[in-house]
Amino acid sequence: MTKPVLAADITDTVSPATLLVRGGSVRSAYDETCEALFITSGFVYDDAAAAEAAFANDGSRYVYSRYRNPTVAMFEERLRLIEEAEACRATASGMAAVFAALLCRLRSGQKIVSSRALFGSCHYIVTELLPRWGIKTVLVDGRDLDAWETALAGGAAAAFCESPSNPAMELVDLAEVARLTHRAGGLLIVDNVFATPLLQKPLALGADIVVYSATKHIDGQGRCLGGAILASESFIKQDLGQFYRHTGPSLSPFNAWLLLKGLETLELRVERQCRTAAAIAEFLEGHPKVSRVLYPGLPSHPQYELAQRQMNAGGTLVAFDLAGDKPGCFRFLDALRVVDISNNLGDSKSLITHPATTTHSRLKPEQRAELGIGDQLVRLSAGLEAERDLIADLAQALDQV
Ligand SMILES: *Cc1c(COP(=O)(O)O)cnc(C)c1O
Repeated sequence: MTKPVLAADITDTVSPATLLVRGGSVRSAYDETCEALFITSGFVYDDAAAAEAAFANDGSRYVYSRYRNPTVAMFEERLRLIEEAEACRATASGMAAVFAALLCRLRSGQKIVSSRALFGSCHYIVTELLPRWGIKTVLVDGRDLDAWETALAGGAAAAFCESPSNPAMELVDLAEVARLTHRAGGLLIVDNVFATPLLQKPLALGADIVVYSATKHIDGQGRCLGGAILASESFIKQDLGQFYRHTGPSLSPFNAWLLLKGLETLELRVERQCRTAAAIAEFLEGHPKVSRVLYPGLPSHPQYELAQRQMNAGGTLVAFDLAGDKPGCFRFLDALRVVDISNNLGDSKSLITHPATTTHSRLKPEQRAELGIGDQLVRLSAGLEAERDLIADLAQALDQV
């Protein structure tokens, strides 16, 4: 593994579109066009002294794929360049990224302040698992800066949020929350899945750590799970390094290879999906069977001004309330002929879900009410199908509400 595909002296100046295709690639001795897939758990040494040296020094060569693997390293480097982060580690899933980032940072007796509008599994880690280890959790309304300030008073080791949130599209003012978190002595960790690496740059806004489920837009074709943690070199090396090495949340080389190919088309897909999502949001907003549309790119979104400031586009997901009850919602979902019912998102296939009975069914009804997740809410992930076919499908299914 000797030849970088993109020369180091132009890596800093080329556009994201170029980095998505070429960034991080290293050609092997065979001069392949496509990134090589190194399906190997281990590596061999010329002699015993080389093995001794490999264990004594830190990362000058590959030792074992739980620590590092050449295909995984290419994915990590490509994503690092896009995110403009100092360092990146890939994980087996988005949840492995969230768990590792939180657990390698937090100690017993410390406090984490988190937005309450979280992906279901993130909510479980923050509210159920962390307290088991003596970590104090405070949940706040992520939209409310005064609530963040009050909760962070007295110090906190970390703050955690998702923006836009799943599924009700609540935004968090990342620059302000980063400032408040730093004042409290903590690090801000942002789950940037809904915005993708292209629409929002939490690190540039002041966040310290970004986590992804690469399963979503980065693969974006429903093929594999994956995740990533992006942060300063010192965080990735010192805080996460030994935790990662010894607990093994490592990404499979095969999945890393799929994700590398996913990154190549990420910009094309996300641009198209954002355009389609915006068109769907506009269509729904005028529809008599729809009582509320939540899309950060619509001027009617309660935090439209913040969305304009911290995102490049409204995103690929639209949430909306139907003017009906739960049976009406189910009739609508069941009547769709192009859009699939699925809890996944960011896929090339348009997917729709009813959060109250699926991803957020674990929450108590009053918690769902707080988060705006009623029985009439559905969340649509815009895929790559023709916009007019999706709108026609939604229109015919809305007749069933
Ligand atoms: C899907 C998702 C996750 C978890 O990712 P997996 O790859 O499924 O483990 C975390 N956060 C958000 C916002 C997600 O949408």
